[in-house]
Amino acid sequence: MATDYYSVLGVGRDASQDQIKKAFRRLARELHPDVNPDPKTQERFKEINAAYEVLSDPQKKQVYDLGGDPLSQSGGAGGAGGFGAGFGNFSDIMDAFFGTASQRGPRSRTRRGQDAMIRLDVELSEAAFGTTKDIQVDTAVVCTTCSGEGAAPGTSAQTCDMCRGRGEVSQVTRSFLGQVMTSRPCPQCQGFGTVVPTPCPECAGDGRVRSRRTLTVKIPAGVDNGTRIQLAGEGEVGPGGGPAGDLYVEIHELPHAVFQRRGDDLHCTVTIPMTAASLGTKCPLETLDGMEEVDVRPGTQSGQSIPLHGRGVTHLRGNGRGDLIVHVEVQTPTKLDPEQEELLRRLAKLRGEERPQGQFQPGQQGLFSRLKDAFNGR
Ligand SMILES: [Zn+2]
Ligand SMILES: [Zn+2]
Repeated sequence: MATDYYSVLGVGRDASQDQIKKAFRRLARELHPDVNPDPKTQERFKEINAAYEVLSDPQKKQVYDLGGDPLSQSGGAGGAGGFGAGFGNFSDIMDAFFGTASQRGPRSRTRRGQDAMIRLDVELSEAAFGTTKDIQVDTAVVCTTCSGEGAAPGTSAQTCDMCRGRGEVSQVTRSFLGQVMTSRPCPQCQGFGTVVPTPCPECAGDGRVRSRRTLTVKIPAGVDNGTRIQLAGEGEVGPGGGPAGDLYVEIHELPHAVFQRRGDDLHCTVTIPMTAASLGTKCPLETLDGMEEVDVRPGTQSGQSIPLHGRGVTHLRGNGRGDLIVHVEVQTPTKLDPEQEELLRRLAKLRGEERPQGQFQPGQQGLFSRLKDAFNGR
């Protein structure tokens, strides 16, 4: 005896038909060639099929239980093998997958097309307020010569004479216990059920051709780097004139000369002289909304920030806009001429700042205490 069909299915010799069926279903799902194309696994798949073929059939099971191998005499599994041998119970396999006996027909030549993606550069202001843009897309479209049919004009697809349009061919193997019917996709029509004798010269029978077209895309306000806009049905048309996939437009925001975007807020730095920081000033700034004046209050410190509320990017979801935040950097004058130096010395004297001690503070408290703790081994 070559194979222990019970151990192949992982069931005991006293397993019920129900247990055998369950074990087979579980293994078939796991080892089906469509799921697991590894050759070793396929060999296992054939084994479990053979085991199930025997153990699910009361007559064959009896022969097997009495010490015979019902398959080796059928000329199927024990012989040359091939497709028919391992796939004797096709309906049971389909049953395992779909829970019902299969009713296979020819497969359709028409399939859904692939999704496509295109990157689109936008300016910061376009991202902030939204815009419409024309984009050039190069995708597969339905072949107009054959309207997606794939057949040359004046000709048409014809029913396959090998399978008579069924898309599969059946073979009956006679065994001493009865007939075993096996099916496989028709080799002449690849399972389509039809053949195209004269393919369309334009698309070589694919039903689609590549074409460049212009699309107008609406960019909503608030998009950011990496935002994807889905254009349903604008992707590749499928083979055989199948429905088109979707086109995704991925936003790439171009850097701005002045503003740096963080979320929906914009940041920039303004450098002002020490005197202006002390006396106050107004700095003109070209915002996304036009020219505005940044009000630098008297006594502004270096590192202070001045927010312009609602001058940032529009929130993509919800209402309102982010802020524009101006960071102030105060410049200390260098290269003083004698008069300027004299003026500053006078100012220092008037303010009692001739010998400033400086004010020391426990700056960066957190970091400092962490360092201290590290030294103390805590
Ligand atoms: Zn055929
Ligand atoms: Zn064509």
